[in-house]
Amino acid sequence: MALTISEKCRNIHPSVTLAIDARAKQLRAMGLDVIGFGAGEPDFDTPRYIKSAARDALDAGMTKYTPVAGTVELRTEIQQKLLRDNGLDYELADIIVSSGAKQCLFNALSAILDPGDEVLLPSPCWVSYPEMVRMAGGVPVMVKGDEANGFLVDADALRPHVTERTKALILNSPNNPSGSVCSRALLEGIAALAVEKQFYVISDEIYEKLIYDGEAHVSIASLGDEIRAQTIVVNGVSKSYAMTGWRIGYAAGPKAVIRAMTAFQSHSTSNPNSIAQHAAAVALTNGEKFMHDSLVEFDARRRLMHQLISEIPGLSAALPKGAFYMMLNISALIGKSLNGRAIRGSDDFAEMLLESQKVAVVPARAFGDDRYVRLSYATSRDKITLGLARIAEFVKELE
Ligand code: PMP
Ligand code: GLU
Repeated sequence: MALTISEKCRNIHPSVTLAIDARAKQLRAMGLDVIGFGAGEPDFDTPRYIKSAARDALDAGMTKYTPVAGTVELRTEIQQKLLRDNGLDYELADIIVSSGAKQCLFNALSAILDPGDEVLLPSPCWVSYPEMVRMAGGVPVMVKGDEANGFLVDADALRPHVTERTKALILNSPNNPSGSVCSRALLEGIAALAVEKQFYVISDEIYEKLIYDGEAHVSIASLGDEIRAQTIVVNGVSKSYAMTGWRIGYAAGPKAVIRAMTAFQSHSTSNPNSIAQHAAAVALTNGEKFMHDSLVEFDARRRLMHQLISEIPGLSAALPKGAFYMMLNISALIGKSLNGRAIRGSDDFAEMLLESQKVAVVPARAFGDDRYVRLSYATSRDKITLGLARIAEFVKELE
């Protein structure tokens, strides 16, 4: 038989966000002064109290396999967090811990999708959603939001895309890449549609703690017993506690789904890292001060970036309400050129900007809209100021 790569893997597009981040880090390691607006990770170090918890875990010999779905210690902390912050009361058996929220999402899709099942994806959406849906045998169905509506997609916009094959919807509020936040009313409409049409909701709440202007995060699962019974809530410690490298995420949902996710995980990665699990449990018990301080800093960065963009002719961005991303509207620059090379879309813009000004951004074609690039403001105010000055220079040089 031919030594080929499977059709499934041949069709996977590697993660653009991770690729851009890796490229920026590589150029920096080569001594180039690159400003990275690509990274989807806080630039802060993991707080000290969490690092010492990891040392304690090592010293206490927490170095063995744990239950596949995570330690009782960590699941208990997650249970309390979901009750405290989201008004959601789950049994420990309804909670699974995985190697990042990414694995939770993949497990959840694998647990519920049969070949050909459709998954609604309000877009712009995170690059990994459509690929994960395909990897799990499903069909992504993008439903496009518009900047004029804050990139939000409501039940009326979703309804025409619901078919006999619609098995799930992935919701992400606060949103990567747009920074939009769903209101309670919008979520109520979506919940009613999901209950009426009987599809699962996978609610990715990883940016829950990064929300500004006094907006409140609402978990769709908290809107009633019916919607809760068909929702899988996904969250994790990567973004809230500056723990991206530790790889701890979690999901809570209907018992049968969590059981299937656990069985699936038992044959792939088993339990997530035992030391990181203890550190995550400690992170969840005692993180308020760190989260408050980082939110204040992210808010200042958000405003600074927005202000600097508004001063560049030809560029604009809506002020996002959550996460740490901004959609930079480059549509007025499409068709312009630099040194004879034309900007045909967001890929060209991102490549040319990196080459000429050493600023890394993510082309939003990867998120489903080629008229934008995504900027992450999870970097220092100095770098934001410098990076935006370079972007202004880039724009000035275009003909
Ligand atoms: N969901 C969204 C929307 C994200 O941006 C990320 C970032 N990587 C994740 C999930 C996964 O986070 P992690 O696997 O680091 O927990
Ligand atoms: N979620 C982040 C981003 O969108 C991290 C990279 C990734 O996992 O995609 O940049």
